[in-house]
Amino acid sequence: MNLILLGAPGAGKGTQAEVICEHLNIPAISTGNIIREALKNGTELGLKAKSFMDSGALVPDEVVIDIIKERLAKDDCKNGFILDGFPRTVPQAEALDAMGIQIDKVIDIEVADEKIMQRLSGRRVCQDCGASYHVDYKPSKAEGTCDKCGGKTVQRKDDHPDTIKDRLHVYHEQTEPLKDYYEKTGKLTIVEGQEEVADTSALTLKALEA
Ligand code: AMP
Repeated sequence: MNLILLGAPGAGKGTQAEVICEHLNIPAISTGNIIREALKNGTELGLKAKSFMDSGALVPDEVVIDIIKERLAKDDCKNGFILDGFPRTVPQAEALDAMGIQIDKVIDIEVADEKIMQRLSGRRVCQDCGASYHVDYKPSKAEGTCDKCGGKTVQRKDDHPDTIKDRLHVYHEQTEPLKDYYEKTGKLTIVEGQEEVADTSALTLKALEA
């Protein structure tokens, strides 16, 4: 099954992508993670993306479209994939169509902006393995240290409150129109994000069967 997860930054796409990945045994592909990895490794892509990412802006379409083309050509995508964070603009969705890729379902996870603000500003991530925590809802056992690998947990630069506001603005302007885009294809299902992750996951898995 070829799936797209839509939703604002912080709506929980990454977590739901992992849930589906385990359930269907298909890879979850996050353009954000690919770009962060490139940044960490100091590659040309990382350098190109850094200033956009740090300020909460979108990386130019042509850059992410190339990333996705390359990633979807890999063998592990033959039986399906989950796109988390791509497409984020109408031109990106059009590029996906132009690649001849059939999308089976688009799941949009809806969470109110105030809730997103709360979630993202409290998020901490391990700088080594990428594991995600929250200062109130899911603290690591020892503050500042990852439970999984012992790495240091830090706040992402783009999780600072002013940058979150900018990211939400970008989401409403450039990404939200994709709901209409996919509604027209009849492939869109909306999942209301719940307080408990497990409850959202149950709704996501139900949406796969719809
Ligand atoms: P994420 O981890 O999905 O929130 O992505 C973090 C940042 O990576 C975004 O704020 C953008 O700067 C960049 N990014 C990730 N995916 C895309 C995309 N599909 N189009 C443009 N920029 C992206």
